[in-house]
Order: sequence, then C-alpha cells, then structure tokens
Amino acid sequence: MLELRPTCENCNKALPPSSADARICSYECTFCVDCVDTILENVCPNCGGGFVPRPVRPVKNWKGDNYLGKDPASTKIRHRPVDAASHASFANGIKRIPPNDR
Ligand SMILES: [Zn+2]
Ligand SMILES: [Zn+2]
Repeated sequence: MLELRPTCENCNKALPPSSADARICSYECTFCVDCVDTILENVCPNCGGGFVPRPVRPVKNWKGDNYLGKDPASTKIRHRPVDAASHASFANGIKRIPPNDR
C-alpha cells in the first residue's frame, strides 16, 4: 500500500492525500510537480527512475473498507533537500533516456 507521504522530499511543500501536485517514483520517493519538472528533470535523485502522478485514495468507504479513513496517509516527513549541482551532474546522463528504458 502507498504510504502517501505528507510533503515534498526536496522543498517540504505539503502534499495532502488529495493533492494533484504529488509525484512518486517506483520506490515511492515523493516530490511536488514543481521540483520534478524544474530541479529533478524527471530523474529521481535516489534511484534514477522517472515520476508519475500519485493516485488519490478515496475518502469515502465505497467498497470493502478500502479508503483513507481506514488507511490514513503517513505523517512521517522525509525532508532531504537535493543538492542542485550534484543532482544536475547525476541527472545529466539519465534525463534523456525515457523512463521506460532506464
Ligand atoms: Zn517540492
Ligand atoms: Zn526513486
């Protein structure tokens, strides 16, 4: 199950469960869309993979207790700001490769 982490790992912007700005990599590293587009260039600083929009967990119990009330978002903040210069050099060789081919 996704943790639904509470903030952007880089800028610490709040990313509540309903946020349309949350992006995740396959390891669930979580960033805001602005950091992904402008600083990370769609390269995860932790694994080198690409990002996709984070799905929104339903707030209503539509079926089988699979909803935010039973499985709430994580409150554990992971604020590990990226060093822009070192990320730029890391991402340089990766960003031109489509995420599906990395
Ligand atoms: Zn951010
Ligand atoms: Zn990652």
